[in-house]
Amino acid sequence: MKTDQDITELNTNFEKSGPDTILKWANEHYGKGVAMSTGFGASGIVLMHQISLIDPGIPVFYLDTDLLFDETYKLIGQLEARLGLSLIRVNTAVSLEEQSRLYGDKLWETQPDKCCYIRKVLPLRSFLDDKKAWITGIRRDQSASRKHTPLFQWENELEVLKISPLAGWTEEEVWSYIRINDLPYNELHDNGYPSIGCWPCTRAVAESDDLRAGRWTGTSKTECGIHKITVSDDPGTDS
Ligand code: SF4
Repeated sequence: MKTDQDITELNTNFEKSGPDTILKWANEHYGKGVAMSTGFGASGIVLMHQISLIDPGIPVFYLDTDLLFDETYKLIGQLEARLGLSLIRVNTAVSLEEQSRLYGDKLWETQPDKCCYIRKVLPLRSFLDDKKAWITGIRRDQSASRKHTPLFQWENELEVLKISPLAGWTEEEVWSYIRINDLPYNELHDNGYPSIGCWPCTRAVAESDDLRAGRWTGTSKTECGIHKITVSDDPGTDS
């Protein structure tokens, strides 16, 4: 448990630090008690590369909803080969067939919050159950809902320190890093997809659009739930 004062101190102390400094601190401080999640976006590629240089033993996991794009599954193998990481697949015990039987076909259209809760939030909670800190690639410039993202925050529901080492980086900085280091990335980024999630809920966007405008287009939903977990967000009790 971190107090508000602890969190303020961390954010102040690391305000001017690069992500590598923050990752080294997390590794030294938490050891196997820290893990990074990735959806294989551009920020995640940067962090995975830095982790591969600092300590490839830091666990990196992804939430496999069984609904990722083929291009994303292909990238996983490319990253493991290039970075020497063993990426951990975390998934729900509820198959797509069972989900259809329980809640109807295409739950992502009828109740996307419930679909995300089953396929992302619950597996995330389960995986982080024995962790003390959680590294993410979210950044302030990705959307209006992320513009106040701090480097460090306490996640009450998960009881972990959430660390976002790239919170202050821009889209340009991330892509510059990827190009300089010749890192693999999701080829959908070259086809108008700045943010990539599950195929039923992701579309290409115009250049002038918000980076996450292609996610859950046509609905008020902007996050899958893993970055805003509170009891009231739990859609598992919805009818
Ligand atoms: S992003 Fe869409 S398909 Fe993926 S878990 Fe959420 S609602 Fe379901």
